[in-house]
Amino acid sequence: MISEIGHSYTIAVDLGATNVRVALIATSGHIIAKIAEPTLKKGGDGIVVTRQIIRMIRNVRGSHPAKIQGIGIASIGPLDYRRGGPLHSPNAPFAFIPLVSPLQSAFRVPISLLNDCNAAVLAEQRFGAGKGIKNLVYITISTGIGAGVIANGKLLLGKSGNAAEVGHFNIAGEPQGLPCSCGKGTNHWEGYASGENIPRFFRWWLRKQGRKEKRSVPLDGMLRAEDLFCAARAKGDPQAKRFLDALARINAHAISTIIAAYDPELITIGGSVALANKNIILEGIKKYVDKFLEVPIIKITPLGEDITLLGAAAAIDKMR
Ligand SMILES: [Zn+2]
Repeated sequence: MISEIGHSYTIAVDLGATNVRVALIATSGHIIAKIAEPTLKKGGDGIVVTRQIIRMIRNVRGSHPAKIQGIGIASIGPLDYRRGGPLHSPNAPFAFIPLVSPLQSAFRVPISLLNDCNAAVLAEQRFGAGKGIKNLVYITISTGIGAGVIANGKLLLGKSGNAAEVGHFNIAGEPQGLPCSCGKGTNHWEGYASGENIPRFFRWWLRKQGRKEKRSVPLDGMLRAEDLFCAARAKGDPQAKRFLDALARINAHAISTIIAAYDPELITIGGSVALANKNIILEGIKKYVDKFLEVPIIKITPLGEDITLLGAAAAIDKMR
């Protein structure tokens, strides 16, 4: 990329539960090189993931002549800012993954660490639908559910970088509601509406319907969230549609709470579940969202799956 020489670059790291992605990104947001690997799960200690990331950064830099301005990391949470990495993450088999100090020692450049949704909302404001907007929320509906919030032009971090853990908002108020994957409560949004939990919510919903519903969607152990969306979309299955209507009410309830909490001008939604089912997810939310406050613009992010990497890079640009 001759045209990019002379510009500045950052390394972006997206540490996810399933994959680690590392990219070399120009200030313009142009992704010059990107590699991905499954996140290492074995080895007994989180340092194996640290070493994996260091090796991937060396690979992606390759023989690129540019000076690196810094390394931006977007990570699964929750984060421990004092120690510089994710601590007791429900999505990783290690108690702690050290990130900031080992990367600083290896590369001697500024390092930024944010949780993945906080990084993503920075990308939305800098490169996506949120340009010029000072109050916005980015929501991911994926394996888990999370959000990043910019309020009054500032990223809302909280004391440990974990503000806006909206996946653990209590949304259902069911006396015998579903337990959440965090293990710390019932009726959390993520316990119903994340990619991992939608099949379980479907089984629970069917039981609640009792004899009213004779199941039409096969209910075996292999049922995935995408099977339910597919049954509704491609085959017009009425039961899958009724279930997705129940899911829409849950999503709209959570979004209503988010609007009341943060009063945003814009909400963008990403993550694998939303990106694969844009219309069903958006229409469901718009149908049931509370009108207590003026409903902001709600749309799917135009940045797709790259939003987290772009956000990790945007965080470094913000530091300079
Ligand atoms: Zn939870």
